[in-house]
Amino acid sequence: MSTKQKRFILPEDEIPTQWYNIQADMPNKPLPPLNPATKQPMKAEDLYPVFSKACCDQEMDTEHAWIDIPEEVRDMYKYYRSTPLVRAYGLEKALGTPAHIYFKNESVSPVGSHKLNSALAQAYYCKQEGVTNITTETGAGQWGAALSYAAKVFGLEAAVYQVKISYNQKPYRRSIMQAYGAQVTPSPSMSTRAGKDVLTKDPNNQGSLGTAISEAIELAMSTPNCKYVLGSVLNHVALHQTVIGLEAEKQMAMAGEYPDIVIACFGGGSNFGGCAFPFMRHNILDGKKTRFIAAEPSSCPKLTRGVFQYDFGDLSGLTPLLPMYTLGHDFMPSNIHAGGLRYHGAGVIVSQLLKDGFMEAVDIPQSETFQAGLLFSKSEGIIPAPESCHAIAATIREAKKCIETGEEKIILFNLSGHGLIDMAAYDQYLSGSLHDYEVDDEEVKKFTKELEQIIK
Ligand SMILES: *Cc1c(COP(=O)(O)O)cnc(C)c1O
Repeated sequence: MSTKQKRFILPEDEIPTQWYNIQADMPNKPLPPLNPATKQPMKAEDLYPVFSKACCDQEMDTEHAWIDIPEEVRDMYKYYRSTPLVRAYGLEKALGTPAHIYFKNESVSPVGSHKLNSALAQAYYCKQEGVTNITTETGAGQWGAALSYAAKVFGLEAAVYQVKISYNQKPYRRSIMQAYGAQVTPSPSMSTRAGKDVLTKDPNNQGSLGTAISEAIELAMSTPNCKYVLGSVLNHVALHQTVIGLEAEKQMAMAGEYPDIVIACFGGGSNFGGCAFPFMRHNILDGKKTRFIAAEPSSCPKLTRGVFQYDFGDLSGLTPLLPMYTLGHDFMPSNIHAGGLRYHGAGVIVSQLLKDGFMEAVDIPQSETFQAGLLFSKSEGIIPAPESCHAIAATIREAKKCIETGEEKIILFNLSGHGLIDMAAYDQYLSGSLHDYEVDDEEVKKFTKELEQIIK
């Protein structure tokens, strides 16, 4: 194998046939979700009214390490998978690092991000179970775009609540959703009780993912044959995303290397988990010593500054209580450009893994992420999504350490999406009008204070 090979691609018949469920291998299983009214542990059946049955069962499955990817979903994966594993020679050279940097390019999906990996699976299961309508929330619009396309593929109607600030600031993502045939509503809206509550208190409220989730769940509960789907945070979403890491494992083998460090940006944990878990499996089972780094924004630092507590997934407390690292469900993140990372909590699996020391987290100021994204654009040609810029910034920090130590570390990061619909953000950075937001401990205390009372 030439050492100068740039891209590593798997043939179609090597696209994984199963997803990897890390819950089966975790030494400490995640704590169960709790019913918000009774505070009693919930079973998969308790979630059936909201989500597709298959996804509820996957959510709570701590037994089966491998779960078959339905043939219909795998057929759709073939539209864009395998995604390339790329050796970032250009970035290595620009940095002058001895590190070997690889990235998994999920930006080549038709909608431009990794989100389609789970959208296709969730839409498929809904269709199988006789559902006709699906509803969800979206921030910057990456998940909404993926879900809208997946709904179209499997013949479902999609209704998407988009966080109002993004609805207005990122009109092209809204157009993409509409192009696939979805109905898009800015959130908070007057069409739900949750939305009305927020607007009554604050008519100028620009929305948050927590509010949009409340609205979508409310619609799902009040519409016949309608299920709610979620683009991150939940265990089954991370499960579907493991197709990323499973491919990367084979592709790294083609390159004759194995990662010392795996890095991904962190919103709710789906692209991080998807890329990391298949490699983490070898830390748990085979004694490998790979480091796993989740990169989050300094303005929404749940992993680095949040508390590990039971909390709600949404603003109004409609979701089950989940044991997670959180900044508190009524924390309103600053208006940063990485919309997909503006969420108060972390997925349950990742939270347990962080608590148990299987992974690390870093928080990164917004300006450093755009600086990293621009260096990547100039050296590798791809303009990364503002979310993905966090992974690149964390990668650059590690690659710079290698310059000092002279170590040839093997670093793999996940390029979760491209930024071609996010150029307004780059414009702001380039014109010098972009702000950094830090969250201090006082603020975190304010929003997490009551959480201890929710469950003792
Ligand atoms: C949504 C999104 C993220 C964050 O979500 P995770 O579930 O943490 O992966 C990251 N990158 C892109 C491009 C996204 O669209």
